[in-house]
Amino acid sequence: MGFARNFAPNNSIVRRIEVSESPALLMEGGRKPVRVLLGSGGIATEERREIYRSLVSDHFSDGSQVVFVPFASHDHSGYTSRMQEFLGGIGQEFLGLHESSKPHETISQADAIYVGGGNSFLLIKELHDRGLVDPIREAVISGTPYLGVSAGANVACPTMMTTNDMPIVLPPSFESFGIVPFQINPHYHPGKVLFMDGDEVTNHYGESRAQRIAEFHRHQDTPVLGMWEGSFVQWDGSRGRLTGRATAFLPGAEPRDFHDGSEFDSELRFRD
Ligand code: ASP
Repeated sequence: MGFARNFAPNNSIVRRIEVSESPALLMEGGRKPVRVLLGSGGIATEERREIYRSLVSDHFSDGSQVVFVPFASHDHSGYTSRMQEFLGGIGQEFLGLHESSKPHETISQADAIYVGGGNSFLLIKELHDRGLVDPIREAVISGTPYLGVSAGANVACPTMMTTNDMPIVLPPSFESFGIVPFQINPHYHPGKVLFMDGDEVTNHYGESRAQRIAEFHRHQDTPVLGMWEGSFVQWDGSRGRLTGRATAFLPGAEPRDFHDGSEFDSELRFRD
């Protein structure tokens, strides 16, 4: 897979960060199909947890061990054990990648890979510093199922530039796995925000997500999927399927809302 390596996030040229050899093309060469499952996060109600467990257990059903990537968090061991506990019922064992002395081998032999949420800047810095971006991308393109939630969904995109997170560390690059050809804004909501100030409901006047995504589109023209909390996207290398709700942003076009069961292509053209 070739990426534009000279990617400079601060330039003012509107451009597309391309995945030049798409997973769909690779699939035609007889390789295993790409299996990517991305979650927005906000899995905080019992109904959402049930959907999550059912999608994840199906996604991981071919293997017995999941390599968990906890680098978006500061507490690698604690996060890995919490995940094992949370998903314990689905039958897989979770191995924290921080525990491996040969992480590249662990990745290439993984039955499945799960990249957890937290801070996306910290995550992409750790992935670059540990030399894990190419190995994980290659494993997924060769058919290893990938699950990414929230920050783990951000890094599945060509870059992690549509995160909501603060840049608490400086990564060497924003380039990410590019295992899906569009950007994701997780935990998306359409704004406008009201909050409680004591007993009073008060307006919040900061930018909405749609405004931030429009700012992104002044510099880049990769489509952006605003994933509402509790939603999931399955991507097979050429087509996606939405569980839950999402809003698609294409440069120069009005945002479009999509609902449970919608299917879409690499340009986020949905078919309801
Ligand atoms: N902080 C989020 C998470 O991983 C990512 C984001 O909002 O962009 O939960």
